[in-house]
Amino acid sequence: MDDLKHGTRNRRGDWTPNDRLETAPLFEFPPRWRKLLAWLPSYFVPWNVIFLSLALLFWWALTPDKEVMQELSPGWILYLLARNSLLVLVIYGAIELRLYIKRTQGARFKYNQRFPADTTSGVFWFKSQNIDNALRTFGSGLPIWTMYEALILWCYANDFGLWATFGDNPIWLIAFALVLPLVHEFHFYCIHRLIHVPVLYKHVHSVHHNSVNPSPWSSLSMHPVEHLLYWSGTLIHIVLPSHPLLLLYHLQISGTGAVIGHVGFDQVEVDDEKAIGTHAFAHYLHHKYFEVNYADGTIPLDRWFGTWHDGSAEAGERMRERMKQRRRKMAAKAAKGSSGS
Ligand SMILES: [Zn+2]
Ligand SMILES: [Zn+2]
Repeated sequence: MDDLKHGTRNRRGDWTPNDRLETAPLFEFPPRWRKLLAWLPSYFVPWNVIFLSLALLFWWALTPDKEVMQELSPGWILYLLARNSLLVLVIYGAIELRLYIKRTQGARFKYNQRFPADTTSGVFWFKSQNIDNALRTFGSGLPIWTMYEALILWCYANDFGLWATFGDNPIWLIAFALVLPLVHEFHFYCIHRLIHVPVLYKHVHSVHHNSVNPSPWSSLSMHPVEHLLYWSGTLIHIVLPSHPLLLLYHLQISGTGAVIGHVGFDQVEVDDEKAIGTHAFAHYLHHKYFEVNYADGTIPLDRWFGTWHDGSAEAGERMRERMKQRRRKMAAKAAKGSSGS
């Protein structure tokens, strides 16, 4: 496909889409119904439908019986770890294989023309972004994901919490499932702002940001403290009436779903004429510029708080102005501090 019909490439070879990013029209007052209806399918297709399908498969076929989970024994917990790890290996691995190892579409639709495997950097374990990212994914990411899953399923098996059934509470559970992607985004925004506080950024979140040019394995490449915060959103299932299927859907959105923002390509080509949009641009801009797009724009939190970057030159200018003002403020504070001491 000719990616220059859909975007531009700069002198370095980095590709930018022509269309500006837009936040979802969900929280606009008065509502713009036509826009809302046109946007709605993209809320479900393809990603959330895929995550819900995986959750259904896991719940029906790949989760131990309630009686088994009543005791926190290593057997079933290691089984959950193995099935989650296998899923990530297959999904992330398939995207990595196609786009980064076989490079079937070269750098077409790729935001950053470089491929992480072609460069080395001392910030990564073994100087390799891929090895570092994969080790962090399987070393602490999957174990902490599984720890939350096992603990909450153990609560379910022992009736700790407000567990509901689809027979008794269908409306509540369906409504909860419908807003779960928003619940995840809101929680992610809050913890993400928190770990951008300088001291936490330095010791925790910088690990994730080492991948300035993210690829699929960067998705869950985080410091263990970030992993702990990242999946803490699933504790909502023991606070509100819920169902284990919703817990599994939540874990899919946050676990497997982390890959969405880190694909590194705007579109994945299917054939010479068709391509699937990835929704990766907003989070790519976060990896590139650090202080923009803390969320993904489904809830327009970044727009409300002035940190939204839609990929345009004007948004870049606004970001630079914001940085300048912040530096000025910090310098003034430092000067005040030194004159007062
Ligand atoms: Zn990221
Ligand atoms: Zn960040």
